[in-house]
Amino acid sequence: MPGETIRKDTPPRVPPHLDDYDEACASFSWEQARSRLQGLPGGRGLNLAHEAVDRHAATDRATAVALRCVRRDDTVTTLTYGDLSRATSRFAHVLRTLGVGRGERVATLLGRCPELYTAVLGTLKNTGVVCPLFSAFGPDPVAQRLRLSDARVLVTTAELYRRKVAGRRTRLPGLRHVLIVGDPADTPQGTLSLTALTDRAADDFTIPPTAPGDMALLHFTSGTTGTPKGAVHVHEAAVAHWTSAYYALDLRPDDVFWCTADPGWVTGMSYGILAPLLHGATVVADEGDYDARRWYRILAQRRVTVWYTAPTALRMLMRTTPRTGPYDLPASYDLSALRLVASVGEPLNPEGVLWGRDVLGLPVHDTWWQTETGAIMIANFAACDIRPGSMGRPLPGVEAAVLRRGEDGRADTSGGRVTVLREPGAEGELALRPGWPSMFRGYLHDAGRTAAAFADGWYLTGDVVRRDADGWYWFVGRADDVVKSAGHLVGPFEVESALMEHPAVAEAGVIGRPDPVAGNVVKAFVTLRPGHEPTPETRRDLLAFARRRLGPAVAPREIDFDPHLPHTRSGKVMRRLLRARELGLPEGDLSALERTETPG
Ligand code: ATP
Ligand code: MG
Repeated sequence: MPGETIRKDTPPRVPPHLDDYDEACASFSWEQARSRLQGLPGGRGLNLAHEAVDRHAATDRATAVALRCVRRDDTVTTLTYGDLSRATSRFAHVLRTLGVGRGERVATLLGRCPELYTAVLGTLKNTGVVCPLFSAFGPDPVAQRLRLSDARVLVTTAELYRRKVAGRRTRLPGLRHVLIVGDPADTPQGTLSLTALTDRAADDFTIPPTAPGDMALLHFTSGTTGTPKGAVHVHEAAVAHWTSAYYALDLRPDDVFWCTADPGWVTGMSYGILAPLLHGATVVADEGDYDARRWYRILAQRRVTVWYTAPTALRMLMRTTPRTGPYDLPASYDLSALRLVASVGEPLNPEGVLWGRDVLGLPVHDTWWQTETGAIMIANFAACDIRPGSMGRPLPGVEAAVLRRGEDGRADTSGGRVTVLREPGAEGELALRPGWPSMFRGYLHDAGRTAAAFADGWYLTGDVVRRDADGWYWFVGRADDVVKSAGHLVGPFEVESALMEHPAVAEAGVIGRPDPVAGNVVKAFVTLRPGHEPTPETRRDLLAFARRRLGPAVAPREIDFDPHLPHTRSGKVMRRLLRARELGLPEGDLSALERTETPG
């Protein structure tokens, strides 16, 4: 196992929520976790928006800040829990007036503006289903997802509507209403002004009875491995949002929490909106784009205490301030309020963890989960030691296993049975025992892919992991990405992490290239840091460096320089696209590929 352990040797500023991992796991039950939530009065069920907003608004937290939206121009809009409760009630009334009801999909195509938050939570109050879309998607990916989700309502801006939806509207007969955020004077033909409608709406709303198993959210996966899937989530996911934020992120009501993920992805929903509000904390949202100075400024000015971000964002910060210093940029901001930094979305290279420790003064806590799991499943807990490069250990209430794999790289399910590997160092497909409240209830309109995700009482994640003797999980790669080379199974993550330790490397993506002798050879695509040239010397240097770190069986045989590795919109390296391009194969579904925007 690579690297050192970062020990919690300094006493934390506040006693952590989980200081005895084994005890917490042993005494945990989802039933008990459920009792942390309130439920609708009179046994009328469980509603996510009631738990996230109204229940705080009915207490002395009504005047606490729920949301601080930093606009592009740096002006700030602040909503208390009371404000948020009233605004979401108005939105719920608007839907009701339009005849939009239970289970109907309301899509959002918005940046992080206050109306996004009121639309999401107002839809949940009205027992509708929220389908968040990424506002940077082009017209075709937007239309594809609106169609797949059967969206009845779309909430967006006049500008986004004109650029991305208007031209495809006739092909979306199910989309009945488009609600436009912003100036009522600018309401394109065929749309309604949300501002005008909410101004007329009452600001109290009685939430209809909501069953814990009622559909609440529809999230499209990132599309890293293929066509995006629409994962269905239900209201009782709130229990897992609450619990995971409590254990993995150590969240408390007085925290100021910033999640940098776009609200179009599950992270931006589960942790950018729901979990912090369930805890009664303050959500910071930034409408602006990534920029190192801006981000440090927001951390400092907003006194952010817990920060949830992603490897891709950390790598960008690492480009401006390498671990080797100088630290002038971050040092010029007061980051003293920050007490926890966590990451999700992709494997976090050990270098990223250590960068946090040295540059921010806090090691980065990696967490693992998926759109399908709805909430964090495996984490380096706030309260526990960190093993850099490890995903951590399962949350209390989460039963994880490593399954033996078959020829195709996925868990061997022949005869409908799987084999659970128990020995230390076991490597195989990561599986989870169904039953946690935020588990997806299927892919919408895709019973086939849903069924294929389960076998023998397990949910199969599609990720390959190794579990060490102490029960920590180490990401090896996606089952589809693992390279079989000369009898070895090579995890792209290990190779990419080793390359990232070289001072010239900003980012790396590793694939297998078919080879008549070895089956596959490991090939790396590398983005260099500014100041390094893609010369034959650099290539030789990197090949030798990787060989020293990894040994000849695992080290890349070939390195190509690529100033722009293909990424999904959610920031993940698309290895399947690197492979397809390398082999001249069809590129597959590219709706989630990050591109410079083309006008629609
Ligand atoms: P698709 O399912 O459409 O191919 P996707 O799997 O990237 O896309 P998400 O649900 O957004 O869609 O991402 C979940 C995946 O991201 C995980 O299965 C895993 O491969 C990767 N991932 C997330 N967090 C981590 C982490 N901490 N370490 C390693 N991998 C991670
Ligand atoms: Mg996936």
